[in-house]
Amino acid sequence: MSERIQAPRGTSDVLPEDWPARRSIEAVAQRILEDAGYRRIETPTFEATELFARGVGESTDIVQKEMYTFQDAGGRSQTLRPEGTAPVARAYLEHGMHKAPQPVKLWYLSSFFRQEKPQAGRFRQFWQIGAEAIGSADPAVDAELILLLNAILEEIGVREIQLRISSLGTPAARVEYRDHLQQHLRAHADELSGEVRARIDLNPLRAFDSDHPGTQRVMASAPRLLDHLDADDAAHFAEVRALLDAAGIPYEIDTTLVRGMDYYTRTVFEFVSGALGAQSAVGGGGRYDGLIEMIGGPPTPGNGWAAGIERMALAAEQRPPVPPVVDLFVASAPREDGNGHVEAFALATEARRAGLAVQQELAGRSLKGQLKQADRIGARFVAILGDEGIALKDMESGEQETVESAAAAVARALKGRHPG
Ligand code: AMP
Repeated sequence: MSERIQAPRGTSDVLPEDWPARRSIEAVAQRILEDAGYRRIETPTFEATELFARGVGESTDIVQKEMYTFQDAGGRSQTLRPEGTAPVARAYLEHGMHKAPQPVKLWYLSSFFRQEKPQAGRFRQFWQIGAEAIGSADPAVDAELILLLNAILEEIGVREIQLRISSLGTPAARVEYRDHLQQHLRAHADELSGEVRARIDLNPLRAFDSDHPGTQRVMASAPRLLDHLDADDAAHFAEVRALLDAAGIPYEIDTTLVRGMDYYTRTVFEFVSGALGAQSAVGGGGRYDGLIEMIGGPPTPGNGWAAGIERMALAAEQRPPVPPVVDLFVASAPREDGNGHVEAFALATEARRAGLAVQQELAGRSLKGQLKQADRIGARFVAILGDEGIALKDMESGEQETVESAAAAVARALKGRHPG
């Protein structure tokens, strides 16, 4: 036998038993977002590498070490999308959506790819539901997006949710702050982890994310960006907070909140769940007022979030699975003319055309085995095609009657169908 081929490390199959939970997450998100005027978008699975290099940022972990990048036959560098915001921003630009009433509100449900170290809740291909509102700088957009994700997580039943928010200000305020932070890091360089020390110039903000004890001690006394905001940014953040307060949603201001993409400006936020392990972030996002310009468009404000479907499923209460409805199982008894299976097949087809959920015998079981199978899958009726015509068995009452035609069997099964 040849060696067995397995799924790539860090990927997982979404098996039939996983779907009821996923489907309900997807349905809740779709309803809540579409009711708020968000419309679905799907962008290509891969994009020009340049989109992420410029959009997400050269110095980010995503671009530096996590992207699946390849050359296509034309020698162009392409990358499997590691996130959804840069592609949606590209689509907004490419399709002239700035001409539509603003903000343009879009949502997506797609899979993303990052070459991260796999662990519980962290995969190399994962699914996200995301929402983006492009074209308005109004703080109401920030607050609405946060409330929508909160509503989704609550309705799904994600346990122990906590919301953390902060503001990153404008790029100019950030540059100034970066200087302060670099000075602080350099002054304590010998207490930092080697990795953080090596990245003081490139990405000092990531030091807040380190789990190295020495680095954490240094960061506890580091200057905070929130204390260095411009007046406009501070007022914007105050308004977002006032709207969240008015909506009665609890949050914590987390001055150490840094996100993995360079495009963020002003509001950033993250929902974490205490029901998850080390990878506790369920979803997050924020404002990205500079992104569209970075990828070649005019200055355009934007804001959005993404939430991981696997994490939401892990953090939600388990609900008992609802078994699929089977209105009719079509069985056939051995017949003298040997044609029972052809008629059974025709009956199944006719019943499906009439709108019934139908399964039929596909594995050559004995009649007894077929009835057992019908019972196992919870069929409401079983049609048995035998020498004496068609017998229809009501699996609830156990009663069996002979019907004169396939059409009669279908009509009877339709009448006895469970409502809903
Ligand atoms: P991000 O795009 O990094 O802001 O992540 C948004 C959300 O996507 C996170 O809060 C997670 O729920 C989910 N997520 C991000 N990366 C992964 C991953 N490697 N595996 C599973 N879920 C992920």
